[in-house]
Amino acid sequence: MTQTDIFADTIAEMTWYEVDQAAKDGAVLLWAFGVIEQHGPHLPTGTDVYIPQARLREVKRELAQRGVKALIVPPYYWGVNVVSGAFPASYKVRPEIIRELMADVFASLKGDGFQRVFCFSGHGDALHNRTIHEGVKLGVERTGMDISFVMDAALAQRLGIPLDDAQITLPAGAQAEGLKFFQVNTSSPSSPGDGEAPPRYVDVHAGRWESSMMLASCASLVRDDVRRTLKSTDLGPDDLAVWRKGFEHARRTTPLGYFGDPAAASAEEGERTLQSAAATAADAIVARIRDKQ
Ligand SMILES: [Zn+2]
Repeated sequence: MTQTDIFADTIAEMTWYEVDQAAKDGAVLLWAFGVIEQHGPHLPTGTDVYIPQARLREVKRELAQRGVKALIVPPYYWGVNVVSGAFPASYKVRPEIIRELMADVFASLKGDGFQRVFCFSGHGDALHNRTIHEGVKLGVERTGMDISFVMDAALAQRLGIPLDDAQITLPAGAQAEGLKFFQVNTSSPSSPGDGEAPPRYVDVHAGRWESSMMLASCASLVRDDVRRTLKSTDLGPDDLAVWRKGFEHARRTTPLGYFGDPAAASAEEGERTLQSAAATAADAIVARIRDKQ
């Protein structure tokens, strides 16, 4: 599934005739919100755009298998950077600009005849994700479309969004099961999966988890000779809390720019993660479509 073209399989590759027909056929839309941000000495700054695009291509395939036609909107990649804000090549856009841009694009999509948009995040910054959620709400207010933010329960909890919020799409059973790790978004892993012991160290940024998905989807962009030499940061939850304060706090906590264990990554693990997250997201999308018919 190696693919470094972020327009691949999106509306940007289609003609207007094809897009028009898809809208008439009732296609749903998938839209990822990433960021250009430092990802250590081994991953490119577009990591949070490449990974969600790889995931959305999988989600689209999974939806097709479930009888749902979907189009992928070209990715949004000028997001909010707090954590990496003190590093080079980590660009910062004000939330109000992002919200308004989202609302304008939603209005255009509505004008084309689309009714449903599922938004995904490629980036773990709390303010980035809060902004997406607010942009979604603004889009609903202005267009009346069914727009939602596909996330896992742990992210909702971290953002202070109630699990029954109308503008989020959670995996089936998430409300009952609470904070289980669904890996439905690409932002950052939140807690261990079923039957897994909680890891001793946290791996949230350009570590094993993200490096694995990059090896699976964009191997040619990984500086693999560098990656193999990187030592695990061996940082825990307390360090994570400091790191999340952002800017100089983050740069002091992780001077090389990664938080986790990049050398432990593998393409196989990345493929499994992308695949299972896409299947979970597709099930959640199908459930929302069924509930709102
Ligand atoms: Zn990332």
